[in-house]
Amino acid sequence: MIDTIVVVEKGRIGNWINGGNSPSAANEYLPIFSPYTGKTIGECPLGGTKDLDQAVKAAENAFPAWKKTSIKDRVQVLFNLKRLLEENLDELANLASLECGKLFEEAKAGILKGVEILEYACSVPNKIAGEFLEVSNGITCRISREPLGVIGCIAPFNFPNMVPMWSLPIALVCGNTAVLKPSEQVPLSSMRLAELFSQAGLPDGVLNVVNGSAEMVEAICDHPGIRALSFVGSTKVAKIVYTRGSASGKQVLALGGAKNHLVIMEDADPDFSPQQIVNSVTGCAGQRCMAASAIIAVGDCDHLIEKMVEYASGFDIGRSMGAIINEASIARITQYINDAEAAGATILVDGRGRKPGDDVPAYANGYWMGPTIIDHVRADMPAACEEIFGPVMTIVRVKTLEEALAIENSSSYGNAAAIFTASGAPADYLIEHASAGMLGVNIGVPVPREPFSFGGWNDSKFGGGDITAEDGINFWTRKKKVTTKWVFPKNPNWMS
Ligand code: NAD
Repeated sequence: MIDTIVVVEKGRIGNWINGGNSPSAANEYLPIFSPYTGKTIGECPLGGTKDLDQAVKAAENAFPAWKKTSIKDRVQVLFNLKRLLEENLDELANLASLECGKLFEEAKAGILKGVEILEYACSVPNKIAGEFLEVSNGITCRISREPLGVIGCIAPFNFPNMVPMWSLPIALVCGNTAVLKPSEQVPLSSMRLAELFSQAGLPDGVLNVVNGSAEMVEAICDHPGIRALSFVGSTKVAKIVYTRGSASGKQVLALGGAKNHLVIMEDADPDFSPQQIVNSVTGCAGQRCMAASAIIAVGDCDHLIEKMVEYASGFDIGRSMGAIINEASIARITQYINDAEAAGATILVDGRGRKPGDDVPAYANGYWMGPTIIDHVRADMPAACEEIFGPVMTIVRVKTLEEALAIENSSSYGNAAAIFTASGAPADYLIEHASAGMLGVNIGVPVPREPFSFGGWNDSKFGGGDITAEDGINFWTRKKKVTTKWVFPKNPNWMS
């Protein structure tokens, strides 16, 4: 699919404020590179407080009218947006591929997963109806859900459409107005998404996009006008955002990094499992928080590993696996492989230095590597316990399932864990003992589909609840409890 990526040049971008493009006050701009070509496709402002103040002001001004708009009317915008996302799917997927390095089909899948959440958000009017009870004679209590006000949403580079869609549709349909801060490495998709929201009928100022990096994130954490904040990114930054945002009185949900374990049992289906396991760590070139990169092989799994090696060795770079986000990431990933090799691990498939074939010369200077499988890794080696965020699979060999789960449990992360087996008992054992929020049985990427919520445990998430589905409704609203009495008894007791 490599030939379908069309290179577009976007030039210097600004922000999206009050329903239109708005120049940034930033002094500094960062080149936006396409991982496919290594060439600049635009420039992203490194904005800060000045830009943010403007965006928050627009969101504050838009809030009263948007809150007053009935939820049945608010949801119409989301129905329109769904149609627009589907009509513009190819163009959006091309843009996401171009700035993020994904394969075209992967970029499409990311958008369609966003659409699935949008569909869930379209059902919110049917879910958000309040509770009502006559609690004693003539006295009623009711609960309604109220929007919070201006909310913030900070996204990572690896899913330029899907991650903003984890938060925005639910937050907006619940009556909030928003400021989105995409990754400075992939700001183009968010700017286009904001444009489509406008086209769908979202009133000016309800969604704003500010561009920048750490300085902008800190400004968002500190801004008194922002009431709640979702963050998705690395654990290091998730901790900063959770602590700093909470300290300034915000409700914060911060999703962090991951190191997901995948246990292989000897009886795993030999035809189905090897490809699925390799696909888990090579999808999006391993740059996804659900990639199962830490394999634990229980017993004699050589017959499965041989097939994994055969499959991974046949990858056509650029066609069966996309690019790496930047050169620094290639250096980091390569270092993990070098260190594991130096520490005595065996490289079964070596992705270092691999590039697309000569038939696509335009991509010769892109950021590429191939799938890598490292066997006989010790569980305490950095490659086996730190997040590599690249297409690198480590295999730790153990004798028992108990040993496998002890390794899984020792991880500070807790996003996902999976098992490949033909038997129920080991699957049940993993489900009972894994210390992770999202588990898979014979599924390498156990992302829950809507209406099930998304979110990990431990150092993979800071804050209560998950980010999507009903937890999303809870996170982006607060309850108002009203007790009403219209009868005035002559001899009241404690209940009247
Ligand atoms: P990142 O943490 O570097 O960046 C995320 C956001 O934080 C960006 O918008 C960036 O501008 C900002 N940022 C970066 N450094 C900062 C700093 N020092 N202070 C304040 N803000 C800062 O993450 P990334 O490289 O864009 O994305 C990859 C990471 O995201 C991986 O760790 C991956 O596991 C994680 N991720 C997690 C999930 C999840 O659901 N748990 C989903 C997607 C990605």
